[in-house]
Amino acid sequence: MGSPKFLVVDDSVTMRRIIINALRAIGYDNLIEAEDGQDALQKLLDKGADFVIADWNMPEMTGLELASWIRGNGFFSRLPILMITTRGSKDDVLKARGAEINDYILKPFSPQSLKEKIDKILKSTEPKNA
Ligand SMILES: [Mg+2]
Repeated sequence: MGSPKFLVVDDSVTMRRIIINALRAIGYDNLIEAEDGQDALQKLLDKGADFVIADWNMPEMTGLELASWIRGNGFFSRLPILMITTRGSKDDVLKARGAEINDYILKPFSPQSLKEKIDKILKSTEPKNA
């Protein structure tokens, strides 16, 4: 696989810019974006993606609902999902695990910490013995 295609999902335009700028800063330039979970589903179906970075709190469809849809979809079920959230309570972490996201990162974050999360996920999801 070449440079993975990232789908960046956040209802805040400012936050999307921050995430996209951070991704560009760490060398990723194959990027598409969506403004909520519902929009993300449509973008996934229309354009596909290799990696989803999603906000937790969004109107229409939350990040957790989006993650549940992805995990329940035969074609996209193994798509890496990194959740971005300001929430870090134990309950929320457990809910996130229930939705089978790969990892989460708390706002605000540095490009370097984003890179570390992405590298860890890509390493854990790459095919073994390939
Ligand atoms: Mg939000």
